[in-house]
Amino acid sequence: MLQTIEIVGATAGPKLLITGGVHGDEYEPMVACRKLAEMLKPEALRGAVTVVPCVNVAAFERGMRTADDGLDLARTCPGKVDGRPTERVAHALSELIRAADYYIDLHTGGVAYELFPLAGYTLHRDPQILEAQRRMARAFNLPLVWGTSPNLDGRSLSVARDAGVPAIYAEYGGGSVCSAAGTAAYVDGCLNVLAEFGMLERVPPQNGVLYVKEDPRDGSGHLQLGHPAPRTGIFEACVALGDRVTQGDRLGTVTDVTGAAATDITANASGVLIMLPGLPRVVKDQATAMIVEV
Ligand SMILES: [Zn+2]
Repeated sequence: MLQTIEIVGATAGPKLLITGGVHGDEYEPMVACRKLAEMLKPEALRGAVTVVPCVNVAAFERGMRTADDGLDLARTCPGKVDGRPTERVAHALSELIRAADYYIDLHTGGVAYELFPLAGYTLHRDPQILEAQRRMARAFNLPLVWGTSPNLDGRSLSVARDAGVPAIYAEYGGGSVCSAAGTAAYVDGCLNVLAEFGMLERVPPQNGVLYVKEDPRDGSGHLQLGHPAPRTGIFEACVALGDRVTQGDRLGTVTDVTGAAATDITANASGVLIMLPGLPRVVKDQATAMIVEV
């Protein structure tokens, strides 16, 4: 039920799965997957690459994060073969993940959020899998390398964790654009991982990793938490993605539309700002910022 593109190399080697469009409003992953599928040539490839440019076609067709049933595919894995539409997609995705040797899941903040470029992985209990994931995330070469709690369920990476398949996810930007820089970074990142495992020849890139953070706290890596909006209103940020902030710094102000009520949002930690809303309007309790302590 998933539209896959498979490139089988001339020589045997590992099987890498790359997916985009787990969320239907994240466009750079879809374009990067399509470009990768065009670029990868069997004669220059060791092993095989399976690319799924858009896992969640029903959500893409709506231009939204989820399909009609409202289930978040990244909270529904491993799904059910005879379940609701998103559960069936989750089941098909999970089968593909279990059949892979390595897995890369590409995301953005969608319409709702913008994210600082990062490659993330679970702090897997198996040291060999953890080390492979560290290699993949560093090779991907985005500014933040972020290892987080292995205890989040329902995600594509949860399926990979349970199946013992080394896996990373990536985030880059968001909002309502399809950034050429984000697409190019994703194509490069995937090619770097292929080169890391000897699946193709590639001149190593200049190091782009600025921060490496491993945070084993329960719930770490959950992006939609932190700095809740006190009301529905307009968030005027005074910081930008990637800024270094200190606990207590003002990040911006949420003002109701008449101006009768305004509340400053202040940093709850010191570190790098990795998330901001993708739209100026925020709803009550929506996360307005996220900081990774580096
Ligand atoms: Zn996503």
